[in-house]
Amino acid sequence: MNITDPTFQDDAKARKWLEAQIWPNGPECPHCGNADGGKIKALEGKTTRPGLFKCNECREQFTVTVGTVMERSKIPLRKWAMAMFVMAAAKKGISAHQMHRMMDIPYKTAWFLMHRIREAMKDSRLVPMGGNGKVVEADETYFGNREVVTKRTKRGKASHSSKRAVVALVERGGEVRSFHVPAPGQFIVQEIIKKNVANKTRLHTDESRIYHGINASYSHETVKHTAAEYVHGDVTTNSVEGYFSVFKRGMRGTYQQCGEKHLHRYLTEFDFRYNRRTALGVNDTQRAEELAKGALGKRLMYKAVTAKQ
Ligand SMILES: [Zn+2]
Repeated sequence: MNITDPTFQDDAKARKWLEAQIWPNGPECPHCGNADGGKIKALEGKTTRPGLFKCNECREQFTVTVGTVMERSKIPLRKWAMAMFVMAAAKKGISAHQMHRMMDIPYKTAWFLMHRIREAMKDSRLVPMGGNGKVVEADETYFGNREVVTKRTKRGKASHSSKRAVVALVERGGEVRSFHVPAPGQFIVQEIIKKNVANKTRLHTDESRIYHGINASYSHETVKHTAAEYVHGDVTTNSVEGYFSVFKRGMRGTYQQCGEKHLHRYLTEFDFRYNRRTALGVNDTQRAEELAKGALGKRLMYKAVTAKQ
């Protein structure tokens, strides 16, 4: 599939595509969970609302967008499908301004559409990373400027505490999990590792104090960056640095305007693509299909995104 596909030109075809992803085994009632095809009736043709079904269990009606990030949206489904495809494919992201021009929708609409798509990209699996003999690399990075500048940072020159901090864990040859942290101190970073990394994992980090005294259940090995020794046996942080490099290029080149309170949503976007990267055998079509599947069970209200923290 590419951008010229009929799915992205025709609302009925876009609906079929979304139904195939969200209901791989046929329609399911989002109101009561009934998935018995014999107890769900298609009302297509009997009503003016396309894609309407009726559940014979709870008597409610529904379409494929009910209970998803697309619920109550006025954006045509072909534009939803295309925006999903584009965001799944664009390695360094795409700005809301560009989406607004490409899709011919108002800027504010494009901005909220994209945040809802990021919501669909959220991974709800809570399985720990790593495990016996496996390698998880941990690292932190600093970029941009914090919006809340403390007195301490106003006095001196730019220090880490005036930058936005992101901590990321990458399982070698596998997935990433990244976190926006207000200040990456020892406690907060080690808590993140404890919550996300399985016991007996080989944990690879640089020599930062942040990782000192990490839980003894990990086999902790470090790389000395100061001595220009980037590879020590198979001990490296190259994977996590590779992730940061794409993330930072995206934040500098595409999302310069990102407000700090939204940073976690952008991290979700970069994590989603990294975890389905080409090197893992996932192509643009499959990535877009997974994104559409993720639309279910997630609703994001405009108020929730625009509210002050
Ligand atoms: Zn029902």
